[in-house]
Amino acid sequence: MNFDLPEEHQLLRQTVREFATERVAPVAAELDREHRFPYDLVAELAELGLMGIPIPEEYGGAGSDTLSYAIAVEELTRIDSSVAITVAAHTSLGTMPILMYGSEEQKREWLPDLASGRKLAAFGLTEPDAGSDAGATRTSAEQRDRSWVINGSKIFITNAGTDITACVTITARTGDDEISNLIVPNGTPGYEVSPPMEKLGWRASDTRELSFRDCSVPAENLLGGQGRGFQQFLEILDGGRISLAAMGLGLAQGAYDLAFAYAQERRQFGRPIASFQAIQFKLADMAVEIEAGRQLVYKAAWLKDQDRPFAEAAAMAKLYTGELSHRVVNHALQIHGGYGYMEEFPIARLYRDQKILEIGEGTNEVQRMVIAKHLGL
Ligand SMILES: Cc1cc2nc3c(=O)[nH]c(=O)nc-3n(C[C@H](O)[C@H](O)[C@H](O)COP(=O)(O)OP(=O)(O)OC[C@H]3O[C@@H](n4cnc5c(N)ncnc54)[C@H](O)[C@@H]3O)c2cc1C
Repeated sequence: MNFDLPEEHQLLRQTVREFATERVAPVAAELDREHRFPYDLVAELAELGLMGIPIPEEYGGAGSDTLSYAIAVEELTRIDSSVAITVAAHTSLGTMPILMYGSEEQKREWLPDLASGRKLAAFGLTEPDAGSDAGATRTSAEQRDRSWVINGSKIFITNAGTDITACVTITARTGDDEISNLIVPNGTPGYEVSPPMEKLGWRASDTRELSFRDCSVPAENLLGGQGRGFQQFLEILDGGRISLAAMGLGLAQGAYDLAFAYAQERRQFGRPIASFQAIQFKLADMAVEIEAGRQLVYKAAWLKDQDRPFAEAAAMAKLYTGELSHRVVNHALQIHGGYGYMEEFPIARLYRDQKILEIGEGTNEVQRMVIAKHLGL
């Protein structure tokens, strides 16, 4: 076994870390406070080739692997989750379905703009009455002439309503016992997005409700075969879990870094609080768990890159880092005392941004269900 990261991955980490520290950190609090989507940062990320990391070069992406992508998402989340989820949802939920299931024509039509970051894409699975039970989707698509006519709604959809969003891939019922995926371009008559939803965290990211009323898209917008949508969205979620797991890891690392620095600066009882064993033990526990989480995340990414089964590893990584980030950010804020409760300290934002990591792309409970199934239960 070799635990050394290859040089290309180390270089990528360095590049993204510099970008996050120099470009994202100075504006993260302001974007969060103003609930402002980071258009300028997305343009800069695009320039760096970070909006299509695992997409092949022939379609305008960077042609890198899943491990590179996970490291980039980890490094961005270390500084700011809103920017990280914008990249992650765009890549693994928005762009990936088209790469994985698109016809050559669909790939040529959509991927160059998406992988280069000129445009964004979204994935609309969740509905008001179909969350964890995503197969209970009610949105319907009926075939009329050479079109699909869509009716229904989606909720909590990331990146669906920005000025540069090109399309959303949705799941829709196309028969009694059949779900299919359809690409719906933004601006299609009958397709509307709500104003941005007000959230506890991820405040600079774009989250919308979608409604479809007799929204007609061409027959060619079917993605993958008719009736293949259920299997396809399960596979998409498997991959997406690696992104969310990388976010849990990155958020935990970011929270640890803030607490570690604060503990050296803050003096009480005549000495830095880092000299108290109670604080040292907290930091030691955090460091151990982060290291364990990193192994799970990188292993899941590595398995995917080897074309080996990775669904169980991805669910384990997502579950573990979701809960790990919860514990770490809690300890990290505790180490900041009352100052950590103030928005002028970044740990407050990380604390708010953490909770969704235990809900999105499958709740902790759903991850346990997935893992139990893999265990043969
Ligand atoms: C900020 C944000 C961004 C999101 N982005 C997207 C997106 O881009 N695309 C998209 O499609 N979705 C998106 N989602 C939706 C997200 O994936 C869902 O919120 C999530 O899957 C949970 O569904 P739910 O909210 O309906 O909760 P529910 O399914 O109603 O769950 C409620 C509770 O019941 C538990 N529960 C449910 N079933 C079981 C069971 N069988 N056994 C035990 N416990 C159970 C759950 O674990 C949870 O604790 C986003 C959500 C948020 C908040």
